[in-house]
Amino acid sequence: MSTDLQFDPVRLPPECEALRNEVRAFLAEEAAAGTFDPHCPGYGDSHNRAFSKRIGAKGWIGMTWPKKYGGHERSFLERYVVTEEFRVANAPVRLHFVADRQSGPVLLKYAPEHVKLDILPRICRGELCFVIGMSEPGSGSDLFAAKAKATKVDGGWRINGSKIWTSNAHVADYMLGLFRTSAPTKENRRHGLTQFLIDMKAPGITVNPIIQMTGQHDFNEVVFDDVFMTDDHVMGEIDSAWKQATSELAYERSGPERFLETFYVMLELIRALGAEPDIRSAEGLGRLVAQLHTLRRMSVSVAGMLQAGKEPVVEGSIVKDLGTIWEQKLPGRVRELTAFLEPEIGNRETLERQLAFAITVAPKLTIQGGTTEILRGIIARGLGLR
Ligand SMILES: Cc1cc2nc3c(=O)[nH]c(=O)nc-3n(C[C@H](O)[C@H](O)[C@H](O)COP(=O)(O)OP(=O)(O)OC[C@H]3O[C@@H](n4cnc5c(N)ncnc54)[C@H](O)[C@@H]3O)c2cc1C
Repeated sequence: MSTDLQFDPVRLPPECEALRNEVRAFLAEEAAAGTFDPHCPGYGDSHNRAFSKRIGAKGWIGMTWPKKYGGHERSFLERYVVTEEFRVANAPVRLHFVADRQSGPVLLKYAPEHVKLDILPRICRGELCFVIGMSEPGSGSDLFAAKAKATKVDGGWRINGSKIWTSNAHVADYMLGLFRTSAPTKENRRHGLTQFLIDMKAPGITVNPIIQMTGQHDFNEVVFDDVFMTDDHVMGEIDSAWKQATSELAYERSGPERFLETFYVMLELIRALGAEPDIRSAEGLGRLVAQLHTLRRMSVSVAGMLQAGKEPVVEGSIVKDLGTIWEQKLPGRVRELTAFLEPEIGNRETLERQLAFAITVAPKLTIQGGTTEILRGIIARGLGLR
């Protein structure tokens, strides 16, 4: 297959600016009330059920989905603005974020009607946490080597095996997971996987924590021991989940959250340099701003393509690849640019705390959501180079 790269020059329309102001005012109120601290990194990764419900009440979850399912029929560009403001503010959206970004769209496409009517409105109200059950011990990047099994029984399926690196599983309500329902064929090694909606409260599921270098509890191992799921929990075509997983990943990889995870150190750099930085610092900061601006234009362009009903898999992979490398390098660059400043700059303590956190977080950025090497393989294939 050969595809031309396409980044349409999409601009955010005027209604997005009004929305941006509304979101900023809401976030300022929440920060003032002590819901989160915009200067304390890590909040963006925490779970806050009450806050998610307030966001749901504002209409900022399931923004692009049909009203029939609790959605708001707004554009992907409006959703883009909301995502961007929440990430930049470091607000705790982790509880509902995966459901909003990628699980909801999968359910919209593949779930039976009664499941959609039950679950989608609850996602929109900020009540549900979804997780992604793709990686397994021994098959991370190679999704199609997954071994966790779903076996057909009367009225449903029995699930056995384990998933790993499952972010948020310890607080999750549901998982969308890939399970082996038959063996791969000679012609197609991707054949034989089916996507299931798993109720994380079902008997037989154990969630074992895996603690990150930052000390945060983000991801987990999830073990399935004869877990029963009814037939209506099968999402899409049996044995053909590979077609679904790739389009889901286009949603996962292209958003502004893919290059803004360490953005707080850039804001602190701007504060540290003040209104009149010396020429060397201004040049360094200027480069970062220009690079960020380019990434943002590309990411907005992908949002425009999603709005147009396209599946920008290659473009989304490019945004994720370039974006995570940029955000991974950012803390080191900020450290270089601030190292020679007077020790008594006003925000030194905040800056040092944020740098310490960002440098510890940075290694995972090019792994989560698909590693750099895997993304480059997808891009090369999309361009007809392999
Ligand atoms: C913070 C974080 C959160 C995550 N959350 C989730 C989650 O919620 N759900 C989930 O399912 N997964 C999750 N993951 C898993 C993640 O998306 C990666 O896909 C997975 O960790 C990679 O698999 P692995 O660790 O087994 O590494 P491997 O696949 O063994 O890769 C090891 C190295 O080999 C390289 N490599 C592998 N295959 C190839 C190839 N064919 N060509 C070239 N190089 C290759 C990789 O790029 C990597 O550098 C998360 C990971 C992180 C870090």
